Amino acid sequence: MVFTDLNKWTLQYPLLDEIIKLQPVSWINPYRKKMRDITSLPVNKRDMRDAAFLWKRFAPYLAKAFPELGKTQGIIESPLKEIPAMKEMLDKDRHQPITGRLFLKCDNELPVAGSIKARGGIFEVLHYAEELALESGLLNIDDNYEVLDSETFRNFFSQYSIGVGSTGNLGLSIGIISAKLGFNVSVYMSADAKEWKKNLLRTRGAKVIEFAGDFGEAINAGRRTTIADPKGYFVDDENSKYLFLGYSVAAMRLKKQLEKMKIPVDDAHPLFVYSPCGVGGSPGGVAFGLRQVFGDNAHCFFVEPTHSPCVLIGLLTGKMRKVSVHDFGIDNRTEADGLAVGRPSAFATAINKLLISGIYTVEDDALFRMLYMLGQSEHIFVEPSATAGLAGPHVIDHTGYIQKYQINPSQITHIAWATGGALVPDEEMKRFYQK
Ligand SMILES: *Cc1c(COP(=O)(O)O)cnc(C)c1O
Repeated sequence: MVFTDLNKWTLQYPLLDEIIKLQPVSWINPYRKKMRDITSLPVNKRDMRDAAFLWKRFAPYLAKAFPELGKTQGIIESPLKEIPAMKEMLDKDRHQPITGRLFLKCDNELPVAGSIKARGGIFEVLHYAEELALESGLLNIDDNYEVLDSETFRNFFSQYSIGVGSTGNLGLSIGIISAKLGFNVSVYMSADAKEWKKNLLRTRGAKVIEFAGDFGEAINAGRRTTIADPKGYFVDDENSKYLFLGYSVAAMRLKKQLEKMKIPVDDAHPLFVYSPCGVGGSPGGVAFGLRQVFGDNAHCFFVEPTHSPCVLIGLLTGKMRKVSVHDFGIDNRTEADGLAVGRPSAFATAINKLLISGIYTVEDDALFRMLYMLGQSEHIFVEPSATAGLAGPHVIDHTGYIQKYQINPSQITHIAWATGGALVPDEEMKRFYQK
């Protein structure tokens, strides 16, 4: 799409002017619908439950293949932690208290892949592996899936190839689980992807294919090469139902965690969740799940870097994935790995439009500040992108959203979703912290 007249666009959408100038902005979604008014989505609650069952079937396999999952019997989950010291530090920093309680959903600690991609990426590969194994007759759905951890199955899966284009975390999750199952897996990365991620993938048995040019080209080349193989399967971050469903199961698990901690979610006690957003798949899957589980009492906000506001621009202009940030002269350069995305997911964005409450943007400097503050106050160390949600309570407080929904602010449970960090090498983490 060519924009011959940016002025026309900024006249129609004044916020766009600030977005183009890379200012941090907030946007309340006018298209958010009540659950009872949503008649059809491409996925439903049953799909989410089916996804949860698939995770259960694979738990014995995962526990066997990844010793780190032994203590949770093969369930890949992260803790929910209240972070009062961080709240106090944020309050001082902003000269204004957050009303309500503040929690961190610690997906930065997710085992196996070290980021929220452990939910979507691993799920999509397991889903594909199960389909192949069941079709072949080698596996029965009632079997103990531990059998998948065997030469027989590794040989079987080695006939098939899996490809993915990724700047980092998605590649890690797909590469690690695919190689473990025995697939022939190729991760297509831009040359500027972090060296440690490429090395880690190679040591786990994945092929890393680097592209000098634009990351979009890397994805396209990866897609072409992968599907040219009749036994090839491409994990398409820009349009994936299975990634989305894998993420959604987080909401069911979160509900249990909240119950256990005796934190109510109901009309009088709304839940505000702030999720770092790249293509919109992981925050979208989580939002979809939360709206299924908590209905209209789940208020889901996305956060994007000021340099990569692709979902915001797609929803604001209604052009969805037809526009990229480059069309508006925005460079898509950010230190927030996983969020440096120029164009949103087609699958997720259509759903997100109806479900989410809004989007705000943050500057990279703010991410590093919050990274430092979280380390200081709570001794929790995450990657820069994973801090983005921590700005949420203050930002949304200034939008009028809480008044619009007549919410009592003191009853809000705020959850900032920390999306990655566990696999980041100490050296790199130190660099983040110093910065
Ligand atoms: C991928 C990623 C996100 C965003 O997920 P999308 O599905 O691209 O929106 C957020 N944080 C981290 C650390 C990620 O790796």
